[in-house]
Amino acid sequence: MADGKNFIEDIIEEEISEGGRCYGKAVHTRFPPEPNGYLHIGHAKALEIDFGMAEKYGGLCNLRMDDTNPTKEDEEFVDAIKEDIKWLGHNWDDRFFYASDYFDKMYEYAIELIKKGLAYVCELTPEQMKEMRGDTQTPAQSPYRDRPIEESLDLFRRMRDGEFEDGKMTLRAKIDLASGNFNMRDPVIYRINRLPHHRQGTKWVIYPMYDFAHPIEDALEGITHSLCSLEFEAHRPLYDWVVNNISIECKPRQIEFARLGITNTVLSKRKLRNLIENGYVTGWDDPRMPTLCGLRRRGYTPAAIRAFHERNGVSKVNSLVDFAFLEYCLREDLNKTAKRAMAVLDPVKLIIDNYPDGQTEEFTVENNPENPDDGVRTVSFSKELWIEREDFMEVPAKKYFRLFPGNEVRLKSAYIVKCVGCDKDADGNVTAVHCELDKDSRGGNPADGRKIKSTIHWVDSKTAIDAEIRLYDKLFTTEQPDLADCNYLDFINPESLTVITGAKVEKSLESTQPADRFQFLRVGYFCADNKDSKPGHLVFNRAVSLKDSYKPEN
Ligand code: ATP
Ligand code: MG
Repeated sequence: MADGKNFIEDIIEEEISEGGRCYGKAVHTRFPPEPNGYLHIGHAKALEIDFGMAEKYGGLCNLRMDDTNPTKEDEEFVDAIKEDIKWLGHNWDDRFFYASDYFDKMYEYAIELIKKGLAYVCELTPEQMKEMRGDTQTPAQSPYRDRPIEESLDLFRRMRDGEFEDGKMTLRAKIDLASGNFNMRDPVIYRINRLPHHRQGTKWVIYPMYDFAHPIEDALEGITHSLCSLEFEAHRPLYDWVVNNISIECKPRQIEFARLGITNTVLSKRKLRNLIENGYVTGWDDPRMPTLCGLRRRGYTPAAIRAFHERNGVSKVNSLVDFAFLEYCLREDLNKTAKRAMAVLDPVKLIIDNYPDGQTEEFTVENNPENPDDGVRTVSFSKELWIEREDFMEVPAKKYFRLFPGNEVRLKSAYIVKCVGCDKDADGNVTAVHCELDKDSRGGNPADGRKIKSTIHWVDSKTAIDAEIRLYDKLFTTEQPDLADCNYLDFINPESLTVITGAKVEKSLESTQPADRFQFLRVGYFCADNKDSKPGHLVFNRAVSLKDSYKPEN
């Protein structure tokens, strides 16, 4: 990567240059999700590579639903997958396909292999087959391996016509029982399965296996580079065997890259579905989920997700990335793009004793100091404000520089005030803090230039709006909840969600639309919930806290 290119780019550039395999051709990739769940941040890595390579080299990327498995697939997932990919900013135009649309052709290619003596119908039970393929000992040949071609052709047609029970027979490729690669030991390429298919209904009772179907799908679509994750590496010889032994012109090249893993979460559709079914989260789009719809609802931006993948790079070594790095990328983006606002999460009244009753004034404040184009807004100010309860201490701790009797603080963009005491209820809880305002400090700067150590945020109690705030934390308490020998459900963080109902936010947020993002000064980055927030009942999700000690290495 000395020249800043990853290994896939090196391969592609070599192949499209003069004399290369793809010289004069457009680079053509595909993203092939199985529509049995929602896309997660790991899929985003794959699709950023698939669409990214096509975009970089002026080529094309197909979106293909890999729906050769008759179980579980669902149109709800198809629509969600499309929405998520569009959200990330990618486009497939009219190149949207279903692998199941190729079932007829796959069947024909299977017939071709049988006719060439390269496939046979086998009647071993799965257990017998497993044993004979030699998981541990030397492989033994199936007694059906050398049956006449005509017999296999006849049986395969009858398999298709539904004459045999599920599991009774399979079609196997005749490759190499002595191969050191288990995948080449006469793999099953078709099986009988009577489950109905989400698009094909009951037309088929035989279904192609992934290793046979995938190379055919790629070749039929003219894919030049079939990019996939590392677990398919050992399947590549079989991929090549299939495209080289059927009559098809296109010979795509499979290239594998490392899977993405992230700390404190799980990235498997099955496990994510389990979290939903067991009620640990509210759905695929729960803001704690590593799904793209969950991250979007939480407040993640496409730019942050793309930056995350770009900076992680593409390699051949599986890695576990710190969730904090994803958060870092979001913070970097929102710092530039999110408008600032004031919100008080745990409010207590601040009463300005020397401010006239009934008087109001307005301050003009910047929406985003990082982006002057975001303009300004006005915030109102009056005798009673809301401040954070933690910004007052009757008896200050060491190094506490906020409000305590006798101390001065700056009310952000407004005035300097000096604390003069507090009110308490019978139980000793502080019910209001009292202060006096320095009239010569309008705008927040003292006339005599004296140093004010702390600035706190506030909201005018006359105009404040109530809001519900949802604070999210890690979904799992351990970095790798899905290590082989442990049960990830044992590590669910019971405190992954804290709901605050009585927060006070400034009036300008009245018109907040679902999915609007803000930096609440001193508190964090928040996003209006895209399902539950509406005018009159604002709900903000904490996307990410303001600061973290995390520093990326690159
Ligand atoms: P899961 O284990 O979450 O169900 P999958 O691999 O079965 O994932 P597919 O829908 O088949 O899900 O995945 C589509 C593409 O996304 C595949 O090419 C797959 O290799 C890739 N992919 C899935 N998870 C990751 C990951 N964590 N990192 C990189 N690529 C991934
Ligand atoms: Mg898969």
